[in-house]
Amino acid sequence: MNYRHSYHAGNFADVFKHVLQCVALDYLQQKEKPFWLLDTHAGIGMYDLQGEQAQKTGEAIDGIARLLTRDDLPDAIQRYVNFVKEVNSPNELRWYPGSPWFSAQHLRPQDSLTLCEMHPQDSGALAENVRNEFPAAKQIKVLEHTNGYGAIKALLPPPQKRGMVLIDPPFEQRDEFDQVVRALTDGVRRWATGIYAVWYPIKDPLAIGDFHQKVKAIAGVEKVFAVDLLIRTAVDRTKLNGCGILFINPPFGLTQQVNEIMDYLTPLLAQDRGAEYQSIWL
Ligand code: SAM
Repeated sequence: MNYRHSYHAGNFADVFKHVLQCVALDYLQQKEKPFWLLDTHAGIGMYDLQGEQAQKTGEAIDGIARLLTRDDLPDAIQRYVNFVKEVNSPNELRWYPGSPWFSAQHLRPQDSLTLCEMHPQDSGALAENVRNEFPAAKQIKVLEHTNGYGAIKALLPPPQKRGMVLIDPPFEQRDEFDQVVRALTDGVRRWATGIYAVWYPIKDPLAIGDFHQKVKAIAGVEKVFAVDLLIRTAVDRTKLNGCGILFINPPFGLTQQVNEIMDYLTPLLAQDRGAEYQSIWL
């Protein structure tokens, strides 16, 4: 396991993913009934942008840093930015929260969150961050050294019957897209009504259609909504040219808001004039 998210925290892909994560969580909060969240690939939950790893790449400069000084953010993006501002001193960008933090911020007393992280060091850091820094820590379970795909099999369906599974793998392995399809197949067989959100990298935009179709073909899957963002023209198809998020059973409000969000985010995160997005029902 070579991937460490601390090199990439707060980059364009995190901004895109965490804005949509917060929108989905906002909709889950609209009913009183408790919800359960599973984050299969959690990372460490909080990243030091002045740390050696983040400084080496400087990726947050073309990510979260581009949003902080804007005064015309759509409400959904402003909510996300406020979460980031709350962990920093005024006019400073030192800390960037990970997906577990955004989930924790949305927990009401009746809700709960399970976090899986497999990397030996990162799972220890995650557990410590949750224990020492997180709100609602008692409602959060950290499964250290745990394979997130296995957790889908072991933990679904949750007793709460409402909630979301976030799948955000590092895509280090050649067959990671197939592993995701297998995990979704396992998940939907056990819990057909859950919301599933999968983040994926886009190098060659033409290759993504195959993944979309495999997800759509999973038995029991009906509603699939995908949002794909390209930050530049995909001339070099070995580079990370963009990323996407695919939702099974997307919250209604998310599909309503996504174009307003992406119309704003796409030019803001663009690295050349080829930046574009698409939001589609599959
Ligand atoms: N979701 C995090 C966020 O948005 O803040 C970032 C997660 S990062 C893209 C992927 C994480 O998955 C890494 O921390 C990596 O160590 C971990 N990982 C890799 N394979 C895993 C597996 N099979 N199960 C659980 N975690 C895994």
